[in-house]
Amino acid sequence: MQFDFLIIGGGVVGMAVAYGLLRRGQKVIMLDEGDDVLRASRGNAGLTWVQGKGIGMPRYAELSLQSSDAWPFFASELSERSGVPLEYSRQGGIDICFDVQEAEARVANYRKLQASSPYLARYFQWEYLDRQALLTHLPGLGESIHGGTWSPHDGHCNPLLLLRALLTASLKMGLSYHPGCSVQRLESNIVGFTANTLGGNFSAERIIVAAGLGAKHLSPMLGLSGEVFPLRGQILVTEKMPLISQLPTPQIRQTGNGSYLIGDTHEHAGLNRDATTSIMAKLAARGVRIYPHLKNANIVRAWGALRVMTPDGFPLYESSRAYPGAYNINCHSGISLAAFHAEELAQALLHDRMSHEFSEFSSARFSKIN
Ligand SMILES: Cc1cc2nc3c(=O)[nH]c(=O)nc-3n(C[C@H](O)[C@H](O)[C@H](O)COP(=O)(O)OP(=O)(O)OC[C@H]3O[C@@H](n4cnc5c(N)ncnc54)[C@H](O)[C@@H]3O)c2cc1C
Repeated sequence: MQFDFLIIGGGVVGMAVAYGLLRRGQKVIMLDEGDDVLRASRGNAGLTWVQGKGIGMPRYAELSLQSSDAWPFFASELSERSGVPLEYSRQGGIDICFDVQEAEARVANYRKLQASSPYLARYFQWEYLDRQALLTHLPGLGESIHGGTWSPHDGHCNPLLLLRALLTASLKMGLSYHPGCSVQRLESNIVGFTANTLGGNFSAERIIVAAGLGAKHLSPMLGLSGEVFPLRGQILVTEKMPLISQLPTPQIRQTGNGSYLIGDTHEHAGLNRDATTSIMAKLAARGVRIYPHLKNANIVRAWGALRVMTPDGFPLYESSRAYPGAYNINCHSGISLAAFHAEELAQALLHDRMSHEFSEFSSARFSKIN
């Protein structure tokens, strides 16, 4: 069988792009490593978030907003195609400010962002709320919380169900899926591109490296930078608690089954994915500061996972000049951007227009930083 696209990486980024290409009638083959590897898609917080994105790059804030607007249709169509509910909700979100300095900096950043983009000035909605005003959105909020920013664009989902839904729907549309298949080498040849694995070689006309942290090793073989590094995040999960109608926050959110997820750490720890007692203690204390009623809640799980970070934290969408038809895709908010990746990015890839339509996101910008 001849394939149009070979995708390396079955995390949420590769899966969303595969789903988008399959919906557009493409023949797609996907290679993914084993269960014991680095996989941000299986360790994240599940936020579909707009607030805070694109400070320093308004175009990224615009993409995040567009993805957030595309999410409701994306979620309902994906659930229908896959039969997997995503536990998705978009009723707005709060980003907590613990003190006045944080609040002032946040407000200044959002105003600056809006001043830099007519699109954001018009469509990015947000409001600063003091603690009293927050109480309607976050009942039970601790007394020492200063305030927070509210935005109607934010939401959350179950990220594991999202991944399962993307895989299920993609398989139904004919995805040729090869898990446990570690790619060792990539090469360009007469058929297009070939990936060498220990289990054999796989080829397609075009190739997309969506390998998360694996991009650093794989993408340079095709003239792409794959410039990413790991940034650890840890998450605590409480036992199931009575459901309270509270908006999600990056710091803490209650999931559909009643557990609270407490997270939002950013740690330079190399490839170490451990959950550490010192960070767990800090997260637990912060969770109780936000919601004092969690004081006696049992913690039932904790984990560390590695974010796929680019040097400036914004997405990396690369098209190879040396090897036309080869692409690299990395981002640190693959859940939030899933709807965008499955729609506009897949469309741009199909027509080989990614470098035109999303030129700001190429690796050329990295020569401007440092
Ligand atoms: C703690 C934490 C919280 C987060 N919270 C959020 C959030 O709330 N909202 C949000 O939008 N994002 C969040 N993120 C980020 C999000 O999880 C990532 O952006 C996303 O998962 C990246 O997906 P990916 O497919 O690029 O990478 P991965 O999930 O790492 O997948 C890469 C895949 O490539 C495969 N691979 C790598 N090398 C090879 C190879 N040589 N051969 C074959 N396969 C290979 C791997 O097996 C893996 O399956 C969070 C991340 C962390 C760590």
